[in-house]
Amino acid sequence: DRATETFGDVLRRHASERPKSVALRFGERVTDYATLDAQTNRIANALIAAGVEPGARVAYLGKNSDTAVALALGAGKAGAVLVPIIWRLSPDEIAWILSDCGARLLIVDAPMGDTACALATDDFTVISIGGARSDKSWHDFDTWRDAAPATPPPVKVDADDILIQIYTSGTTGRPKGAMLAHANVTRFRPVIDAEAIGWLTPDPDETAMLVMPFAHIAGVGTALLAIYAGQENIVLSEFDPGQVLDAIERHRLRRLFLVPAALQILLAHPRAETTDFSSLRYFSYGASPIPIELLKAGIARLGCQFVQVYGMTETWGAVTALAPEDHDPDRLHLMASAGRAMPGVELRILDPDGNALPPGMAGEVAIRSPSNMKGYWNRPDETARTLDAQGWIRTGDAGFLDDQGYLFIQDRIKDMIISGGENVYPAEVESALYGHPDIADVAVIGVPDPHWGEAVKAIVVPRPGTNPDADNIIAHARQRIARFKCPKSVDFIDALPRNPSGKILRRELRAPYWAGHARHVN
Ligand code: ATP
Ligand code: MG
Repeated sequence: DRATETFGDVLRRHASERPKSVALRFGERVTDYATLDAQTNRIANALIAAGVEPGARVAYLGKNSDTAVALALGAGKAGAVLVPIIWRLSPDEIAWILSDCGARLLIVDAPMGDTACALATDDFTVISIGGARSDKSWHDFDTWRDAAPATPPPVKVDADDILIQIYTSGTTGRPKGAMLAHANVTRFRPVIDAEAIGWLTPDPDETAMLVMPFAHIAGVGTALLAIYAGQENIVLSEFDPGQVLDAIERHRLRRLFLVPAALQILLAHPRAETTDFSSLRYFSYGASPIPIELLKAGIARLGCQFVQVYGMTETWGAVTALAPEDHDPDRLHLMASAGRAMPGVELRILDPDGNALPPGMAGEVAIRSPSNMKGYWNRPDETARTLDAQGWIRTGDAGFLDDQGYLFIQDRIKDMIISGGENVYPAEVESALYGHPDIADVAVIGVPDPHWGEAVKAIVVPRPGTNPDADNIIAHARQRIARFKCPKSVDFIDALPRNPSGKILRRELRAPYWAGHARHVN
C-alpha cells in the first residue's frame, strides 16, 4: 500500500523494480537505485552502531552532494532525523541551529571542516566526508559507512515518523525547525499521481536536478520528491549559472526548478543566449514573488512549459500550482497568481479572528494538506499559533482567492506597509519597478513617516553603467500602479541583502530607518 510507505520502503521498491536506473549523478559518480538502497542501509546501520536512537537528530553541514541525499534517506531508515544546515549561514547562525536541534552526531563536508572544528565540542561524534583531519579524532565517512553491513537495519519505521527537520529560511526572524514525516510525501504524492497531470506528476524516465541548497526545502524537498518518483537526479554542489547551463545541455535535462533570484542570474549569464534549452519540458519556480518582466523573459528564453508553485517549508514545498496553460500573456492577471490548490490540498483565506473569508477578500492564507508538517521542533507556542487541531497551517502570507480558486499571494503580512491607512504590498511595487531599464534589483519597504504612519521607500540596485534618478523611478511607478502604492523616496544600494534561498531580507533593510521607532506588527 503506497500510502503507508516510508522512504525506506520506497527505496526498496525502486531497487527491485528499477535497480540499474540512475538515482544520483554527482560529477563522475553515478549511483543507481539498487546501490542507493544498499548504501542507505549501511548508513542506517552505521548510525545505529554509533548510538543514534530512533528520533535522534543528526546534523549535516556541507554543500549539495549525492552523499547528502543518501544521508537523509539513511537516517530515515534508522528512524533518525537528518538536520541539514545551510553552509552559507554565518558561524553564529550555524551554531544556533546545531544547538537548537540537539544533535550529538555531525557529518561534515571537508571544506566546512574549520567551521565544524570551532562548533563541535568534544561530546560530538564528527564524521568527515572527503578525508578525516589528522588533528581531530574524526571518522572518515567512507570508512565509517562501509564498515557497516548493507542488510536492512533492524528498526521499525512508521510512515508518520519524522524523516527530516528543515529549518525555515529565516526571512522574518530566527529559523524554525519544521518536522516533516515520511507520510508527508508518501500519503500526498499518490493523491497527485492519481490525477496523472503531466506537469504535476514526474515521469520516472525524466532527469531532474538538485541545485538549490540541499538544506532548504526547495533543494531537499524537490530532490526527495524526485527520488520518490524514481527519477535520475543531477546533483550540483551549489548554484552556479554556468554549470547549470552546461548540465542542461549535457544531460538533456527535462525538468528544472529554480527560485526566481536564480532564474534572474541564469538569464543574465552570457552563455544563456546560446544554450540549447530544447530538452526542457517543464520549468518550475517559486519560493518568492516573481516580477512579471522576469517571468516573461524566462518564458521567451527557455521556451518550455512554466509552472509556478507556492508553498513553504512547513508544507513540504509546493501546495498550489499555476498550470502551463495559465501562463498566458493574453490573461496577464492570471500570471500574477500562484495557481490553484494541488489535488488533496485545501486553501482558505482567514480574517484576523480566524474566520474564513469569501472569494475576492484578502486575508491570511491558510493551508490544509497531507504534506503539512507535524510541528516545529522545540517550539510548542509557535506550533500552536501556526498549526491548529484541524490540521490547518496559517502561513503568515496575505492573499485572496478568486471565484475560480486561483490564489493570489500579495506578500508577507509582516512586510505589508500601512501608509495613510491603505495597505501596500511591497511585492507589487517591486514588480512594477523591476521593468525600469536602469534597475537591476529592487526592494520596497515601509519607513516611519510622521504624516502617513509609514511611507513607501524603494531601495534600488542600479544596472551597471546607468545613473538612475529617483524622480524618474517614481514616475515609472505612477504609470503602473495606484499613486498611494508608489515610492515616496528612493535610496540606492550596491546589492540587496538576500538569504541563501534568494529572498530579500526586508527586515535588515528596514532596521536602520526604524531605530528608535516602534513598527506596527501586522
Ligand atoms: P521564515 O519562515 O523563517 O521567516 P521563509 O518563510 O522565507 O522564512 P520558507 O519556508 O523557505 O521560509 O518560505 C516560505 C515563504 O515563501 C512563503 O510563506 C511565502 O511568503 C514565500 N513564497 C513561497 N512561494 C511563493 C510564491 N510562489 N510567490 C510568492 N511568495 C512565495
Ligand atoms: Mg515562513
